[in-house]
Amino acid sequence: MDKGVAPKVSFVSLGCPKALVDSERIITRLRAEGYELARKHDGADLVIVNTCGFLDSAKQESLSAIGEAMAENGKVIVTGCMGAEPEQIEQAYPGVLSITGPQQYESVLDAVHRAIPPLHNPHLDLVPPQGIKLTPRHYAYLKISEGCNNRCTFCIIPKLRGDLVSRTADDVLREAERLVNAGVKELLVVSQDTSAYGVDLKYAAAPWKDREVRARFYDLARELGELGAWVRLQYVYPYPHVDEVIGLMAEGKVLPYLDIPFQHASPDVLKQMRRPAAQDKTLGRIKAWREQCPDLTLRSTFIVGFPGETDADFAYLLDWLDEAEIDRVGCFKYEPVAGATSNALDNPVPDEIKAERWNALMARQQKISARRLKRKVGTRQQVIIDEVGPSVARGRSKADAPEIDGSVYLSSRRPLKVGDIVTARIERADAYDLHGTVAGF
Ligand code: SF4
Repeated sequence: MDKGVAPKVSFVSLGCPKALVDSERIITRLRAEGYELARKHDGADLVIVNTCGFLDSAKQESLSAIGEAMAENGKVIVTGCMGAEPEQIEQAYPGVLSITGPQQYESVLDAVHRAIPPLHNPHLDLVPPQGIKLTPRHYAYLKISEGCNNRCTFCIIPKLRGDLVSRTADDVLREAERLVNAGVKELLVVSQDTSAYGVDLKYAAAPWKDREVRARFYDLARELGELGAWVRLQYVYPYPHVDEVIGLMAEGKVLPYLDIPFQHASPDVLKQMRRPAAQDKTLGRIKAWREQCPDLTLRSTFIVGFPGETDADFAYLLDWLDEAEIDRVGCFKYEPVAGATSNALDNPVPDEIKAERWNALMARQQKISARRLKRKVGTRQQVIIDEVGPSVARGRSKADAPEIDGSVYLSSRRPLKVGDIVTARIERADAYDLHGTVAGF
């Protein structure tokens, strides 16, 4: 590295949106200290790999990303979920410079300083006030807490990340306001368990503008709704107080969208999974939510083939899906994760049955999704533009989260820009996407 030339760091970010938020924080700090980002490992002064260790397949992906960085560069710092169990990495790549777990920003920066010291005069002005975002400029993830107080048997996140630690309400709101002032049009509120926000703080109030805001899910959602951006709530569990937030959705303060990872519907399987807020009244609650807020879109994820899942449990899940009319669904085949207590459960489901159930669930869901989307044909929807092509633009309605849900494909007489929010006339629907024309700006 030449003296006086900004050191270059190549960054690989793997895993979920929550890990992406960690990456953004590290990169923001590095840029503040005068480091530059490199596009390739080759030619960078070092590589940081932010890993995911949630499933064994994710660990494999992380290990191969580390391997690639070692081969192409040789100076590698590893952080993220997989870093909480460093043995596997040390064994495979003994030359890695440093390994740290998730949210250990300081240790990552220390390791970078040791390997390539920063320039004497960091160009602090290189960093825009809102930080550096890896997501496109018009939407941003807002992480409100770390860790989780639940102990779902298939999950090792509490082991990796510890119990719930919430940010104070004013801290979250300040970041949100900065993002909106910098042009962000959509805030995606994320954490491991969004509706548990503030439990650890005993819902303490903090001063914000001319008032006090409590660290409570409802209070935070209400205040975020005042900032003038779309606010989308992800990873919410159906605790009783979620009902209050539906009122904010009906009033148009936050998007009528809830991402609730139900994981299953059968009471026996849920019990084995030790899921929070698992209860048989969920269908009734969903019905009441939809009565109060007819536009509500529900997204969820499910696990099929959990140990002990019988044909009857699976049939129950399919019927439940039909009745709940979950708009968007992600489905995973159960995979044992090293360190998860579910590994010790009896009656593992054979792989071919897992695959059959996965196909059956996705087929059922496709029908539900198509049915729900068809109801939107002929309506007008607001659409945020993500990508502009030569003849068609791709965007998302309030019912679609980025990266995981469907899209709205639009033709327009006037040129569109990424981040525009337009009114569209919906003309056609297929299983997952909508198609239409821009009718107003
Ligand atoms: S709620 Fe369950 S699945 Fe989600 S992070 Fe906590 S323990 Fe894991």
